[in-house]
Amino acid sequence: MPELPEVETTRRGLAPHLVGRRVDGVLLRRPDLRWPIPPEVALRLPGQRIDAVRRRAKYLLLDTEAGSALLHLGMSGVLRVLPGAAAVAAHDHVDLQLDDGRVLRFTDPRRFGCLLWQPPGTLHALLQNLGPEPLSDAFDGDLLHRESRGRSASVKTFLMDQATVVGVGNIYAAEALFRAGIRPQLAAGSISRTRYGALADAVKVILAHAIERGGTTLRDFLSPDGQPGYFEQELFVYGREGERCRSCASPLKHARLGQRATVWCPRCQR
Ligand SMILES: [Zn+2]
Repeated sequence: MPELPEVETTRRGLAPHLVGRRVDGVLLRRPDLRWPIPPEVALRLPGQRIDAVRRRAKYLLLDTEAGSALLHLGMSGVLRVLPGAAAVAAHDHVDLQLDDGRVLRFTDPRRFGCLLWQPPGTLHALLQNLGPEPLSDAFDGDLLHRESRGRSASVKTFLMDQATVVGVGNIYAAEALFRAGIRPQLAAGSISRTRYGALADAVKVILAHAIERGGTTLRDFLSPDGQPGYFEQELFVYGREGERCRSCASPLKHARLGQRATVWCPRCQR
Protein backbone atom coordinates (compact mmCIF):
# COMPACT_ATOMS: atom_id res chain seq x y z
CA MET A 1 0.00 0.00 0.00
CA PRO A 2 1.42 3.41 -0.86
CA GLU A 3 2.39 5.21 2.35
CA LEU A 4 3.09 8.91 2.75
CA PRO A 5 6.65 8.72 1.32
CA GLU A 6 5.41 6.95 -1.82
CA VAL A 7 2.64 9.52 -2.24
CA GLU A 8 5.10 12.40 -1.77
CA THR A 9 7.48 10.72 -4.21
CA THR A 10 4.60 10.42 -6.68
CA ARG A 11 3.81 14.11 -6.20
CA ARG A 12 7.41 15.14 -6.82
CA GLY A 13 7.61 12.91 -9.87
CA LEU A 14 4.38 14.20 -11.39
CA ALA A 15 4.61 17.92 -10.63
CA PRO A 16 7.19 18.88 -13.31
CA HIS A 17 5.07 17.13 -15.95
CA LEU A 18 1.73 18.57 -14.86
CA VAL A 19 2.19 22.09 -13.51
CA GLY A 20 1.43 24.64 -16.22
CA ARG A 21 -0.21 22.03 -18.48
CA ARG A 22 -3.80 22.41 -19.58
CA VAL A 23 -6.24 19.52 -19.26
CA ASP A 24 -7.79 19.01 -22.69
CA GLY A 25 -10.09 16.15 -21.78
CA VAL A 26 -11.12 13.67 -19.12
CA LEU A 27 -11.68 10.05 -20.03
CA LEU A 28 -13.44 7.97 -17.37
CA ARG A 29 -13.47 4.26 -18.27
CA ARG A 30 -15.77 3.52 -15.34
CA PRO A 31 -18.05 5.74 -13.24
CA ASP A 32 -16.54 4.91 -9.89
CA LEU A 33 -13.46 3.86 -7.98
CA ARG A 34 -13.91 3.44 -4.25
CA TRP A 35 -16.65 6.07 -4.59
CA PRO A 36 -18.49 7.48 -7.62
CA ILE A 37 -16.42 10.01 -9.56
CA PRO A 38 -18.41 13.26 -9.23
CA PRO A 39 -19.61 14.90 -12.49
CA GLU A 40 -17.53 18.03 -11.79
CA VAL A 41 -14.34 16.15 -12.71
CA ALA A 42 -15.40 15.72 -16.33
CA LEU A 43 -17.38 18.98 -16.48
CA ARG A 44 -15.02 21.47 -14.85
CA LEU A 45 -11.52 20.13 -15.50
CA PRO A 46 -11.30 20.34 -19.33
CA GLY A 47 -9.78 23.66 -20.42
CA GLN A 48 -8.24 24.27 -16.99
CA ARG A 49 -4.53 24.79 -16.36
CA ILE A 50 -2.97 22.80 -13.51
CA ASP A 51 -1.47 25.43 -11.20
CA ALA A 52 -0.05 23.11 -8.54
CA VAL A 53 0.22 19.47 -7.49
CA ARG A 54 -0.15 19.33 -3.72
CA ARG A 55 -0.22 16.59 -1.11
CA ARG A 56 -2.22 16.57 2.13
CA ALA A 57 -1.85 13.39 4.19
CA LYS A 58 -2.01 10.66 1.52
CA TYR A 59 -4.23 12.69 -0.81
CA LEU A 60 -2.98 14.43 -3.94
CA LEU A 61 -4.62 17.60 -5.20
CA LEU A 62 -4.40 18.95 -8.75
CA ASP A 63 -5.26 22.62 -8.31
CA THR A 64 -6.95 24.63 -11.06
CA GLU A 65 -8.91 27.89 -11.02
CA ALA A 66 -12.15 25.92 -11.30
CA GLY A 67 -11.37 23.64 -8.36
CA SER A 68 -9.12 20.75 -7.42
CA ALA A 69 -9.13 17.12 -8.43
CA LEU A 70 -8.61 15.12 -5.23
CA LEU A 71 -6.92 11.75 -5.65
CA HIS A 72 -6.06 8.90 -3.30
CA LEU A 73 -4.03 5.88 -4.42
CA GLY A 74 -5.82 3.51 -2.03
CA MET A 75 -4.18 0.09 -1.78
CA SER A 76 -2.88 -0.34 -5.31
CA GLY A 77 -3.25 2.93 -7.22
CA VAL A 78 -0.53 4.24 -9.53
CA LEU A 79 -0.40 7.56 -11.39
CA ARG A 80 1.76 7.84 -14.49
CA VAL A 81 2.32 10.38 -17.24
CA LEU A 82 2.34 8.47 -20.52
CA PRO A 83 2.33 9.17 -24.26
CA GLY A 84 -1.24 9.67 -25.50
CA ALA A 85 -0.94 6.56 -27.66
CA ALA A 86 0.14 4.26 -24.79
CA ALA A 87 -1.78 0.97 -24.80
CA VAL A 88 -4.64 0.80 -22.32
CA ALA A 89 -4.66 -2.12 -19.87
CA ALA A 90 -7.41 -3.68 -17.77
CA HIS A 91 -7.17 -1.47 -14.68
CA ASP A 92 -6.44 1.87 -16.36
CA HIS A 93 -9.57 3.62 -15.12
CA VAL A 94 -8.97 7.32 -15.76
CA ASP A 95 -6.99 9.43 -18.26
CA LEU A 96 -6.55 13.17 -18.00
CA GLN A 97 -5.53 14.26 -21.49
CA LEU A 98 -2.88 16.99 -21.36
CA ASP A 99 -2.19 19.74 -23.89
CA ASP A 100 1.25 18.29 -24.69
CA GLY A 101 -0.27 15.12 -26.10
CA ARG A 102 0.42 13.00 -23.05
CA VAL A 103 -2.02 11.61 -20.49
CA LEU A 104 -2.04 11.36 -16.73
CA ARG A 105 -3.27 7.80 -16.22
CA PHE A 106 -4.75 6.45 -12.98
CA THR A 107 -4.42 2.69 -12.69
CA ASP A 108 -5.91 0.91 -9.68
CA PRO A 109 -6.53 -2.88 -9.79
CA ARG A 110 -8.19 -3.05 -6.37
CA ARG A 111 -10.12 0.22 -6.69
CA PHE A 112 -9.66 1.43 -3.14
CA GLY A 113 -8.41 4.70 -4.59
CA CYS A 114 -10.60 7.69 -5.38
CA LEU A 115 -10.98 10.68 -7.68
CA LEU A 116 -13.12 13.40 -6.14
CA TRP A 117 -13.67 17.14 -6.54
CA GLN A 118 -12.98 20.07 -4.24
CA PRO A 119 -14.56 23.39 -5.30
CA PRO A 120 -12.36 26.51 -4.97
CA GLY A 121 -12.19 27.97 -1.47
CA THR A 122 -13.53 24.83 0.20
CA LEU A 123 -11.99 21.93 2.08
CA HIS A 124 -13.24 18.47 1.14
CA ALA A 125 -14.82 16.50 4.00
CA LEU A 126 -12.02 13.91 3.73
CA LEU A 127 -9.44 16.61 4.48
CA GLN A 128 -11.18 17.97 7.54
CA ASN A 129 -10.25 16.87 11.06
CA LEU A 130 -6.76 15.77 10.02
CA GLY A 131 -3.77 16.24 12.30
CA PRO A 132 -0.65 18.12 11.18
CA GLU A 133 1.78 16.95 8.51
CA PRO A 134 4.57 14.92 10.14
CA LEU A 135 7.34 16.90 8.43
CA SER A 136 5.86 20.28 9.40
CA ASP A 137 6.94 22.35 12.39
CA ALA A 138 3.44 21.88 13.85
CA PHE A 139 4.34 18.25 14.59
CA ASP A 140 6.69 17.88 17.55
CA GLY A 141 7.05 16.33 20.99
CA ASP A 142 4.96 19.07 22.60
CA LEU A 143 2.03 18.25 20.34
CA LEU A 144 2.27 14.51 21.02
CA HIS A 145 2.58 15.08 24.75
CA ARG A 146 -0.34 17.54 24.87
CA GLU A 147 -2.67 15.43 22.69
CA SER A 148 -1.93 12.21 24.57
CA ARG A 149 -2.75 13.29 28.11
CA GLY A 150 -5.47 11.07 29.57
CA ARG A 151 -5.29 8.65 26.63
CA SER A 152 -5.17 4.95 27.52
CA ALA A 153 -4.76 3.74 23.91
CA SER A 154 -1.33 2.35 23.06
CA VAL A 155 1.25 4.84 21.84
CA LYS A 156 1.43 3.01 18.51
CA THR A 157 -2.34 3.28 17.96
CA PHE A 158 -2.20 6.94 19.04
CA LEU A 159 0.64 7.67 16.58
CA MET A 160 -1.25 6.01 13.70
CA ASP A 161 -4.43 8.01 14.42
CA GLN A 162 -4.82 10.53 11.55
CA ALA A 163 -6.21 13.05 14.04
CA THR A 164 -2.87 12.98 15.92
CA VAL A 165 -0.63 13.30 12.88
CA VAL A 166 -1.26 12.25 9.27
CA GLY A 167 0.56 9.65 7.25
CA VAL A 168 2.29 7.54 9.89
CA GLY A 169 1.25 4.05 8.80
CA ASN A 170 2.11 0.71 10.38
CA ILE A 171 5.63 0.46 8.95
CA TYR A 172 6.74 3.93 9.94
CA ALA A 173 5.06 3.80 13.37
CA ALA A 174 6.86 0.53 14.19
CA GLU A 175 10.22 1.83 12.97
CA ALA A 176 9.88 5.21 14.71
CA LEU A 177 9.02 3.55 18.03
CA PHE A 178 12.10 1.36 17.70
CA ARG A 179 14.32 4.32 16.91
CA ALA A 180 12.91 6.25 19.89
CA GLY A 181 13.29 3.19 22.18
CA ILE A 182 9.61 3.19 23.12
CA ARG A 183 7.64 -0.03 23.59
CA PRO A 184 4.60 0.14 21.27
CA GLN A 185 2.01 -1.05 23.77
CA LEU A 186 2.64 1.60 26.44
CA ALA A 187 -0.39 3.79 27.17
CA ALA A 188 -0.06 7.01 25.15
CA GLY A 189 -0.94 9.08 28.21
CA SER A 190 1.92 7.63 30.29
CA ILE A 191 4.81 8.78 28.09
CA SER A 192 6.93 11.79 29.05
CA ARG A 193 7.45 14.99 27.07
CA THR A 194 11.12 14.07 26.56
CA ARG A 195 10.33 10.66 25.11
CA TYR A 196 7.70 12.19 22.82
CA GLY A 197 10.35 14.60 21.61
CA ALA A 198 12.49 11.62 20.61
CA LEU A 199 9.50 9.96 18.94
CA ALA A 200 8.59 13.03 16.87
CA ASP A 201 12.22 13.34 15.77
CA ALA A 202 12.30 9.65 14.83
CA VAL A 203 9.14 9.99 12.71
CA LYS A 204 10.62 12.95 10.85
CA VAL A 205 13.99 11.30 10.22
CA ILE A 206 12.46 8.04 8.99
CA LEU A 207 9.87 9.67 6.72
CA ALA A 208 12.35 12.17 5.30
CA HIS A 209 14.79 9.36 4.57
CA ALA A 210 12.10 7.27 2.90
CA ILE A 211 11.05 10.21 0.73
CA GLU A 212 14.67 10.80 -0.22
CA ARG A 213 15.09 7.16 -1.19
CA GLY A 214 11.81 7.24 -3.11
CA GLY A 215 13.29 10.11 -5.03
CA THR A 216 15.78 7.76 -6.61
CA THR A 217 12.93 5.90 -8.35
CA LEU A 218 11.22 8.96 -9.86
CA ARG A 219 11.77 7.66 -13.38
CA ASP A 220 9.57 4.68 -12.52
CA PHE A 221 6.52 6.89 -12.47
CA LEU A 222 6.90 7.44 -16.18
CA SER A 223 7.37 3.79 -17.08
CA PRO A 224 4.41 1.49 -17.65
CA ASP A 225 5.23 -0.94 -14.87
CA GLY A 226 7.04 1.19 -12.30
CA GLN A 227 6.23 0.32 -8.71
CA PRO A 228 7.61 2.15 -5.70
CA GLY A 229 9.22 -0.21 -3.18
CA TYR A 230 10.04 -0.24 0.46
CA PHE A 231 13.60 -0.63 1.60
CA GLU A 232 13.37 -3.88 3.47
CA GLN A 233 17.05 -4.09 4.20
CA GLU A 234 16.72 -0.93 6.27
CA LEU A 235 13.80 -2.05 8.43
CA PHE A 236 14.65 -2.74 12.08
CA VAL A 237 11.40 -4.29 13.31
CA TYR A 238 8.57 -4.11 10.77
CA GLY A 239 7.99 -7.51 9.20
CA ARG A 240 10.90 -9.06 11.15
CA GLU A 241 8.97 -11.21 13.67
CA GLY A 242 11.00 -14.27 14.62
CA GLU A 243 14.28 -12.56 13.74
CA ARG A 244 16.90 -10.94 15.94
CA CYS A 245 17.27 -7.24 16.75
CA ARG A 246 19.75 -5.60 14.40
CA SER A 247 21.01 -3.51 17.31
CA CYS A 248 21.28 -5.89 20.32
CA ALA A 249 20.64 -9.35 18.76
CA SER A 250 17.75 -10.13 21.16
CA PRO A 251 14.90 -12.14 19.59
CA LEU A 252 12.20 -9.66 18.51
CA LYS A 253 8.74 -10.02 20.03
CA HIS A 254 5.47 -9.69 18.17
CA ALA A 255 1.79 -9.28 18.96
CA ARG A 256 -1.32 -7.75 17.48
CA LEU A 257 -2.02 -4.25 18.66
CA GLY A 258 -5.15 -2.37 17.56
CA GLN A 259 -5.68 -5.04 14.84
CA ARG A 260 -2.19 -4.46 13.44
CA ALA A 261 0.85 -6.73 13.49
CA THR A 262 3.43 -5.20 15.79
CA VAL A 263 7.06 -6.20 16.27
CA TRP A 264 9.42 -4.77 18.88
CA CYS A 265 12.69 -5.42 20.64
CA PRO A 266 12.14 -6.24 24.34
CA ARG A 267 15.59 -4.89 25.20
CA CYS A 268 15.90 -1.74 23.05
CA GLN A 269 12.29 -0.64 23.59
CA ARG A 270 11.12 0.09 27.13
ZN1 LIG B 1 17.37 -4.62 20.50
